[in-house]
Amino acid sequence: MNEKRSIWDYEDIVGRSLLEDLETLAEHIPGTVQHINATYSGGGVAEILSSMIPLFVGLGIETEWNVIRGDDDFFSVTKGFHNALHGRAEDSIAVCAEHTDVSVMDDIENQINELTTRKEMFETFLRWNRINAEEMELDSDYMIIHDPQPAALIDVKKRGKWVWRCHIDVSNPDPLVWNFLRDPVSKYDASVFSTPLFTRPDLGIRQFLVPPSIDPLSDKNIELSQGEIDSVLDKYGITQDKPIITQVSRFDRLKDLPGVIDAYKRVKKRMDCQLILAGGVAADDPEGMGVYREVMEKAEGDEDIHVLLGSPPFEDIEINAFQRASTVIMQKSLKEGFGLVVAEGLWKGKPVIGGATGGIPLQIINGVTGYLVHSSAGAAYKIANLLKNPELARTIGENGREHVRHNFLITRHLMDYLMLLISLDDPSGVIRL
Ligand code: UDP
Repeated sequence: MNEKRSIWDYEDIVGRSLLEDLETLAEHIPGTVQHINATYSGGGVAEILSSMIPLFVGLGIETEWNVIRGDDDFFSVTKGFHNALHGRAEDSIAVCAEHTDVSVMDDIENQINELTTRKEMFETFLRWNRINAEEMELDSDYMIIHDPQPAALIDVKKRGKWVWRCHIDVSNPDPLVWNFLRDPVSKYDASVFSTPLFTRPDLGIRQFLVPPSIDPLSDKNIELSQGEIDSVLDKYGITQDKPIITQVSRFDRLKDLPGVIDAYKRVKKRMDCQLILAGGVAADDPEGMGVYREVMEKAEGDEDIHVLLGSPPFEDIEINAFQRASTVIMQKSLKEGFGLVVAEGLWKGKPVIGGATGGIPLQIINGVTGYLVHSSAGAAYKIANLLKNPELARTIGENGREHVRHNFLITRHLMDYLMLLISLDDPSGVIRL
């Protein structure tokens, strides 16, 4: 994919001077750029790259985006890594079961079995990285490798500067999985994390901070007319005669969809409202359909809960319309990388309630641009308060939009990447903007 888009399309939104600086910086990128991740669609990384690559190209930088391949085993392993790196204890691959009632011999046997399983997982991971390394051309001047799935491609590095761009929270990882991954990651020239909270004290390479971003001109975020919003809601049989609470997210346990339903049910006892849970299942996530079924079961019997599975994936305009039709937007994650959907909601001037985890607190300044919550009861309290106070909801929403304008739009993100690439070549060089 090397479609082209002009940064000047963003002038009305971010002003002239930032765009002039981008052009100046782009002139100092002497080579080609290649981004590699695990999927072209589904999830935040694909979302960002779809907007970012055409802008790189529009700035005259030869840029490619490639995706690695793997079988079901590989993606089960990488999903296990994802959970384990996020430190999700209950089903991370690396957590020992509690052996309270077993004999010492059973205990030892269990541990041996588990080590064997892990060894097999690590081998699967490395085997698929080797297969991809053989099949792909990895010879750009700047290689930006996203997340753990393709991290071991670095083993075939011949030239160029390689950056590991980590989108997930690895601040409290399962130690075995992190120690395994740290070996390839340490070979990179630099790493990039979304917030200072995610950085690692035990990485001997440079670490940069680059928060993610949304594209205000993409179909996901562009202004929509009321007619466009209505026709999407009609299509899914949703009336707009009562307030809508919405969470858009993949069907993933870390997004706490049951917790959102609990919060809604508490509010519903006191005020009439409806809930939209719209999401898909990412191509690299084997757990998604199971989570979807659990959510359907929990929602059963309440006609005001609309569980919408995007299969094929929702059009971006549809997600946009769900968000714009909402009175309150939720992102009640238990663990989160950045949480692009939060920025998407804020940009649309909606009050957003989010779990106090990962990158969500960067976006939601509690009580100013939204609300951070730690429980379903807390979320319910905030939802009810916003439904009762439209003026408060409007002010919080406006604050949120400005916060995103200054910090989380694609143009700022592009600027950070350009500066990072330049600093890899000449950390002490100064460019006159
Ligand atoms: N998304 C989408 N369709 C869906 C579910 C999610 O287009 O059915 C988009 C959502 O709007 C956001 C991205 O996927 O742009 C999810 O990014 P986020 O950082 O919130 O979560 P991730 O999926 O990366 O954990």
